Amino acid sequence: MVKIEKAAWDTMVAHAESEFPNECCGVMLGAMGDEKVVKSAVPLENAYTGGQQDRYELRPEDLLAADRRARAEGLELIGIFHSHPDCDAYFSKTDLENSCPWYSFVVLSVKGGKFDHANCFQPNADQTAAEKEELTWPKS
Ligand SMILES: [Zn+2]
Repeated sequence: MVKIEKAAWDTMVAHAESEFPNECCGVMLGAMGDEKVVKSAVPLENAYTGGQQDRYELRPEDLLAADRRARAEGLELIGIFHSHPDCDAYFSKTDLENSCPWYSFVVLSVKGGKFDHANCFQPNADQTAAEKEELTWPKS
């Protein structure tokens, strides 16, 4: 179960809406326990060089820097978030191929430039399937 705190959630939604109609991406930092609590979110640049309406790519060095930042703050890198502009929050075949089994993946659906809904996924070790993970965020 992944629980996102308000400050982190506001950052994720703002990033997803401001990058619309392109996909946004970023990382979620927090504490791992019985549940994963996301305390802050770091927007990263979508490095995909083709059309970004339905693709995102994280630079490995950005991910590494975010991981260092998390450790420096006593947090852990819980997972990665990205948006699906004018599309539902499902985990696509491309998402699965580019995933890592040790992270949680939050997908935010943004429709017409406004946040619509979100889902969280946890890929299996072989990256052949991703289970839906329970996700909660502050309703405003
Ligand atoms: Zn996706």
